[in-house]
Amino acid sequence: MTVDLRANVPSGALETKWTRHRSEIRLVAPANKPKYHVLVVGSGLAGASAAASLAELGYQVSCFCFQDSPRRAHSIAAQGGINAAKNYQNDGDSVFRLFYDTLKGGDFRAREANVYRLAELSVNIIDQCVAQGVPFAREYGGLLANRSFGGVQVSRTFYARGQTGQQLLLGAYQALSRQIGRGKVTMHTRHEMLDLVVIDGVARGLIVRDLVTGRLDAHVGHAVVLATGGYSNVYYLSTNAKGCNVTAIWRAHKRGAAFANPCFTQIHPTCIPPTGHHQAKLTLMSESLRNDGRIWVPLGGGEGDRDPNDIPEAERDYFLERLYPSYGNLVPRDVASRRAKDVCDEGRGVGPGGHGVYLDFRDAIARRGRHVIAERYGNLFEMYERITGEDPYQVPMRIYPAPHYTMGGLWVDYNLMSTIPGLFVIGEANFSEHGANRLGASALMQGLADGYFILPYTIGHYLAQVTLPPADAHHAAVRQVAREVEERTTRLLAAQGRRSVDQLHRELGRVMWDGCGMSRTAAGLGAARDRVAALRQEFWENVYVGGAGTDFNQSLEHAGRVADFFEFAELMCHDALHREESCGCHFREEHQTPDGEALRDDERFSYVAAWEFTGVGQTPVLHKEPLAFEVAHLAPRSYK
Ligand SMILES: Cc1cc2nc3c(=O)[nH]c(=O)nc-3n(C[C@H](O)[C@H](O)[C@H](O)COP(=O)(O)OP(=O)(O)OC[C@H]3O[C@@H](n4cnc5c(N)ncnc54)[C@H](O)[C@@H]3O)c2cc1C
Repeated sequence: MTVDLRANVPSGALETKWTRHRSEIRLVAPANKPKYHVLVVGSGLAGASAAASLAELGYQVSCFCFQDSPRRAHSIAAQGGINAAKNYQNDGDSVFRLFYDTLKGGDFRAREANVYRLAELSVNIIDQCVAQGVPFAREYGGLLANRSFGGVQVSRTFYARGQTGQQLLLGAYQALSRQIGRGKVTMHTRHEMLDLVVIDGVARGLIVRDLVTGRLDAHVGHAVVLATGGYSNVYYLSTNAKGCNVTAIWRAHKRGAAFANPCFTQIHPTCIPPTGHHQAKLTLMSESLRNDGRIWVPLGGGEGDRDPNDIPEAERDYFLERLYPSYGNLVPRDVASRRAKDVCDEGRGVGPGGHGVYLDFRDAIARRGRHVIAERYGNLFEMYERITGEDPYQVPMRIYPAPHYTMGGLWVDYNLMSTIPGLFVIGEANFSEHGANRLGASALMQGLADGYFILPYTIGHYLAQVTLPPADAHHAAVRQVAREVEERTTRLLAAQGRRSVDQLHRELGRVMWDGCGMSRTAAGLGAARDRVAALRQEFWENVYVGGAGTDFNQSLEHAGRVADFFEFAELMCHDALHREESCGCHFREEHQTPDGEALRDDERFSYVAAWEFTGVGQTPVLHKEPLAFEVAHLAPRSYK
């Protein structure tokens, strides 16, 4: 399959591209829409909003998720909020400012036209969700409230306490449920997509495993949408739900979809620090806390055990406020994470092992009152106290950076179609508009823009142009893919080795964190890639899965996902190694300014790296989508 990276960005002025495109793209007549069957994998914010919108338009939809309900998608975990350029605060916000903040936040490694469209659509999302009854926080007078997130100087984040993702997901879920009730969406919960079926070069179907019975089923339709989320769990420890994985997009990649910027992974600055090797998960403390919390460490080293309340003001280093006076504690995540790591590396970290910095609400409580802080962040404070046993109203929280979000994903054009015709990718699963670093509260915005407002148009544009021959589950290509899935399952079960899937996953995570984590070097990346390859081999020879393929088997589910993480991790290292620059979260130690900031190389690396699969353990082929900027100037990114 050839890799065609035509981005299909419409011509015309940046502000008019999407409106014109929407008016000019082909439409499917209402009477014809029910003749098309769309397979949507994923029912988080991106998938649920897409499935509901497509069904509302009249398409026939099948939707799949591996949880027992769409309401359990990882999107439910989103805490802090969702951005929109409504300018309710009258503080100078605009669509252009949101566009520019996002592009700059991503260190100019995103496609300009997509980012503009995202900013433009942000305002529609809020209207849609309010109409659904999403209980956004409100001011005393009834207007929707806002708070600030990192990398911006306005207040544009809409929120529902610390449960924004949950409330938005309930809105999307109720829209989806309505369509399930109408018979327009067939929902397949507890089904995992294990492969993509491509017929005559076009995505037409899926092989899914019923996770309760173990049965493999084939589904064939006219287009496939992947809304399967991000891959931060390649690091084993991350803030993502344990089930998040790379399987769907990795298997589509192996069938020909180019994988873009896999090394762009975000390390979030405000997570509860790990306390030992027993841990299976890290917990995020929302970025919204940086609105009121001040980040500091003791000025001198070796004071990590001293009661923070006994450390006087003169002996505290509010290092973000000192280094970045314009943005202070609200610098973007990549910058805040690196600086926290720096002070800990200097020996000034606090808590067990010195892997922590303080996030302190003392001043905010004194200024605003405890009740205001409780209203804003009450559930987050409670969560922190339950996990650490410390009361953040009394003592500062301790936080440390942790893997959180993945900007990389399957490459898509302006219409959100991958390099396989008929395969669309939305939400965190695509390579997205966030470039090399996502600003806070922008993932929910992107997932919902994709699902509610972009895909429902662009998929029609595709369907109206293609003639697809009839195909069903008996097609030779479908049977061939199903056979390959079965063989893989048999191989996993046959290993009968001595190491558990979890042990091997944990080891992979450590290698990736050390070699391809917050800070990277050529030597470290090369070593990590070799180690991953060796571990991958060991996995297949020495893993013990247990149970059977024809039954409920969570060990088998986990093994399949981890096997994919092993193959994928090599691509991540490869991508990080080839990108000889620092940008956003991709910090190559060899490329930094004298004061330790990321040093981009626009001459050589102003492109999207889209990789073509050539075989497991084989060197992938690099394809480049050059990034041309019509409006934005490629300025050095500064938050000082
Ligand atoms: C703790 C936390 C807090 C966050 N807070 C915010 C925030 O405040 N604001 C913000 O903008 N962003 C936030 N984010 C990021 C944001 O939540 C995610 O990027 C976003 O929700 C992803 O949505 P999605 O629909 O793309 O994927 P998901 O919500 O992850 O959904 C993926 C779906 O795909 C399904 N799936 C996956 N693989 C398969 C398969 N092989 N077969 C079948 N189904 C499959 C799953 O079952 C699920 O339904 C946060 C992230 C975390 C981890």
